[in-house]
Amino acid sequence: MADWSQLTKRRRKCSQCGTIMNYLALGEYKCPSCGNEELDDYGIIRKYLDEHGPSSSAAIEAATGVRRMVINEYLRKGRLEITDGSPVFIRCERCGKSIKFGRICAACAKNVVSRQEEKAIPFEEIGDEPTPFAPKKHDQMFMSGKHRR
Ligand SMILES: [Zn+2]
Ligand SMILES: [Zn+2]
Repeated sequence: MADWSQLTKRRRKCSQCGTIMNYLALGEYKCPSCGNEELDDYGIIRKYLDEHGPSSSAAIEAATGVRRMVINEYLRKGRLEITDGSPVFIRCERCGKSIKFGRICAACAKNVVSRQEEKAIPFEEIGDEPTPFAPKKHDQMFMSGKHRR
């Protein structure tokens, strides 16, 4: 299992001068002392996707060295999403329906909340269902960064 507390840790020391860096956004950090900028795993994936467009997890792993397990964890946390038209999606943990990101589909999230059997699901973990699309000749999921700006 990926250690999510490590993945989301927004405390990072500058590799140049050792100062605690400021978290900017989208996995980017800047050192207040020397101005050095660094990316964490998420920042590295975002940068790769910005430059190369939707990519499979295998391609991302090969190009960036970020392990697929980690990439998958970002999908489950709603920080990446699988693009419409991808031949493979992740599945709702409760009903198995295809979703583009998150842990469960919107219908299941509603059920969980109304029955109060679990504490509320974080909004970013409730995944959209993909728009039906002609399948491509790959068997891997393609993903892109969410909340582009
Ligand atoms: Zn520095
Ligand atoms: Zn579901």
